[in-house]
Amino acid sequence: MKPIPYGRQHITEKDIEAVIEVLRSDFLTQGPKISEFEEMFAKYIGSKYAIAVSNGTAALHLSALALGVKAGQKVITSPITFAASANCVRYCGGDVIFCDVDAETVLIDLQQLKSILEKKSKISGIIPVNFAGYPVDLSKLRKIADEYNLWILEDACHSPGGYFIDDNNVKRRCGDGTLADLAIFSFHPVKHIATGEGGMITTNRKDLYEKILLLRTHGITRNSDLLTENHGGWYYEMHDLGFNYRLTDFQAALGISQLTHAEDGLKRRRKIAQRYDDAFLNAPIKIIRPKENFCHAYHLYIIQVKNRLQLYNYLRSNNIFPQVHYIPVHLMPYYKNLGWKKGDFPNAEEYYENCLSLPIYPTLTDEEQEFIIQTVLKFQDNDY
Ligand SMILES: *Cc1c(COP(=O)(O)O)cnc(C)c1O
Repeated sequence: MKPIPYGRQHITEKDIEAVIEVLRSDFLTQGPKISEFEEMFAKYIGSKYAIAVSNGTAALHLSALALGVKAGQKVITSPITFAASANCVRYCGGDVIFCDVDAETVLIDLQQLKSILEKKSKISGIIPVNFAGYPVDLSKLRKIADEYNLWILEDACHSPGGYFIDDNNVKRRCGDGTLADLAIFSFHPVKHIATGEGGMITTNRKDLYEKILLLRTHGITRNSDLLTENHGGWYYEMHDLGFNYRLTDFQAALGISQLTHAEDGLKRRRKIAQRYDDAFLNAPIKIIRPKENFCHAYHLYIIQVKNRLQLYNYLRSNNIFPQVHYIPVHLMPYYKNLGWKKGDFPNAEEYYENCLSLPIYPTLTDEEQEFIIQTVLKFQDNDY
């Protein structure tokens, strides 16, 4: 059996052809493929606007800037996420306030969130993370956010295609812009849609859309309605301190082609998850079962076991390469230096002690999955 990673991209021959076509064209960057990808992505996700950027971290940075994060402001996020979800606040000079996760869903705990909001002032927004692909209940979160006048930046990197049905029977797709002010996605190869590096911001808010467009390209505009002077056809103005966070056209072409099989990939992920769920039903393994009305996008398939390190090593010795998602962000030395410490978030920390992400990706074969399942069960039986 060849090595089995925890996640990997699915690149088809058609995907490759789409990239080559752009390489032979006039535009490698700033060409027509960008807006084509943005329109197609917005349609897939269900949002009004989409802005392609160079990676998910750039998407977070531009979002935090557009939302006005600055020194003196506090923003809440989960400690069980990739560090970038928190770092974007620091890029803008703001302070990160972590909030513990719910032990069952590993999503931000809304009760604890409320108690933080009651105690602390100067909180401007919240960055919920659809961790592993499990959508955060943004209907409930929006109510809390409105009460405290907060914006919501949804980190949807794990959940393109995921959704939930709210109490009024409305389908809420991850990143669709109906409840969060902004949402962000990543196209890193382990995520659902791969462009090498790449990211996307979605929103229904025109003001934020326009602001982010400007910030993506150095804060420079050529829009004659906005120019304060005009010297001729070459003339442009820099209105804000922006960045070069653009995606290239050949990456966008890959993204467009990837989108055509994104729904199939999602179905395959959900099928693999179902098979793991069934296989581990009677084993001493804790799994995360989404609540009714929640469509989990399964970027990750996570089990929680008592002997995680041994299982990790045992699987690796069998050429299966699981991963741990995530080391709690508040325990990173950088955040410890800012005052966070072990013991701050018991649910997040206990989850971290036991969690292990098993391989899940569209091209994982039934045979490979069976081998993974049997290896995990054999370990549990024998407790190596
Ligand atoms: C991958 C990821 C990011 C960052 O995306 P990059 O494209 O790698 O910069 C941010 N948040 C979460 C939850 C992620 O999984």
